[in-house]
Parts: sequence; C-alpha cells; structure tokens
Amino acid sequence: MTGVQLRIGEAQDLDPAGEQVALGLDAFALLDLPVPPDFGAPGSRRQILVDAGGGAVAYTVAAAGDSGEIIRMGNAALGRLLMDEPPPSPVDVTADVFGSCELAETAVLRSCATVAVIAPHGGSIERATDAQAERVASDGRFRADSWICRGPGGGAFRRWHITSDDLSEASFPGLRALLRVPHDLAVSFHGFSDIHDVDVIVGGLLDDEVRCAVREELERRLTVVLARPAIVLLASSTHDPHPGLAPDNVVNRLARLGGLQIEQGLALRSTRDAPAVVADVVTEQLAALAPPTSASAVREGSGWVPSGNPDPPH
Ligand SMILES: [Zn+2]
Repeated sequence: MTGVQLRIGEAQDLDPAGEQVALGLDAFALLDLPVPPDFGAPGSRRQILVDAGGGAVAYTVAAAGDSGEIIRMGNAALGRLLMDEPPPSPVDVTADVFGSCELAETAVLRSCATVAVIAPHGGSIERATDAQAERVASDGRFRADSWICRGPGGGAFRRWHITSDDLSEASFPGLRALLRVPHDLAVSFHGFSDIHDVDVIVGGLLDDEVRCAVREELERRLTVVLARPAIVLLASSTHDPHPGLAPDNVVNRLARLGGLQIEQGLALRSTRDAPAVVADVVTEQLAALAPPTSASAVREGSGWVPSGNPDPPH
C-alpha cells in the first residue's frame, strides 16, 4: 500500500462503531484531500485506509482536527486496528480505498436504467448480499445499474465495513457513476449478525405501502423456505435497528422515489435458498413499479408513466 505516514493521536470516538476518524489539517494536505466545508453534506466524508502493521483498515474522515500530520482516533476506532492505544510509530495511510488491492468494486451501467441495485458490503463483509444484488440486477423485467463492493475474508466486517450513510462517491468511482444516473428506484442488500430472532428488516425511504408489500411477501415466502415462522420487520423510525431512513444513506441518494434497504440476519443468509427468495421477492416488487424495458414494452405494447411525474408508476 503506497501512502503517507501519519501519527495516530488519541481522541473521543466520533461514532460508536469506530468507523469515523478526524485528520489534522496537514494530513489532508499530505493525502491531497480537500477539507470539506461541511462534513455533514452527503458524499463529503471520504474513506481512507490505515495500516498499522496488521493490514489495511477502512475509515471515514468525518472531521478536521488541529494542524499536524495526524489521524485522531477514539478507542473503538483503535480497536478496529486491534489496538488499545496509539502505536508509537507513524502508520501508513492512503486515500485510495483500493490501494491495498483487497477491496474491489464492480459497477455495471446499462443504458436507460431506471433501477439501481447495490451491495456495498459484499464478499466476506456481509455474505450473500453480492449474489443477491447480481440476481436482481440481471432480471430482464427492468433495466438496472448495479454497484457491488467486495471485501476479502479475514476480519472482513471489522476491516472493511463503512456505514451506508458515509459511503462517498469521491472514494468509490463506481458509486459515483451510478449517482450520475437519475434512477427512480434503488435497492441495497445488507447483513447483520444477530438481532433477537429477526430475519429481515425492510427499511429505506421508499413508500411505506410498497415496503409493507415487500414485508408481507417476504414473511410468507421465507416461512416456507426457513420451515418456521419468518420474522420480518418494517423499519418505521430511526430508533429501529438498521432503518436505512437517513437521506444520506446511499440507497436513498440513488433513487428519486427513495431507496429500499434490505437487512438480513446471519441465520437467513446461511440458509440454502433463502437469500435467493429474498432477492426474487424484491425483484418482483421492483418489476411492478419500474417501467418495462423497451423490449418488453414493445412486446406488451404498453407505455409507462414517464419520469418527471411525481407519482410512482403503478
Ligand atoms: Zn451492510
């Protein structure tokens, strides 16, 4: 990893997960990063890699500290480097999130796409989510762009997870390409390890009625494949776990009508056929909302409500 050398200094954690850090002003200059005028603006919190000798770990730059060639971390952020306190020697830091040749992104752009399908935590970060995104994006009933980011095994969640509210198009060119396209709909696939017995949380800013329909269909179909009653929650407030309701969440930024965020427990993702069933339910709901692809439009002789109409097509 070719980067610059920065000292690590102690600070308060900026987030409970320890994904966010602050940089000294000289560190911004060394990394050739602009200091954002507003760290709260969507996309302005960029990602960096830090290697203290134990392998690269991804962080989000969420604040500017004092001057100095320094990166400031709290205990949770240090913990992601498997450290209790700042190391005595400078560490290797780069603003190229692909600089350690471990994280990989794949963006597929299709002409006239109206749906964006993403899996920001694919590979070993949140298993099965990348295959779900591919399955949905390749469906012929609508035209979809896709963005999938994969992290390799070995502490993948600890090293590579960046919350969806922080993912910056300045760090991920594939994401930048998708954000340039005006999509009506977007879905993002995610995984969590364990929240009581919850199988799926249906979140995002997409219309409640549509999310309810997704929830009901998931509950019905997953109860069959899991051979037990499936527990599927509808996220309705920011107090719910992983609600995906922040406007900054990249899935909401990608879609005019608001995103659909699908969060899934480990038990479900480890059950044969269950991830595919989730993907298929999502595909069917999107197909009902999305304009038909030109091929199917010609075949069916049907038009659709053009984008620009404030109401979602039915
Ligand atoms: Zn995720």
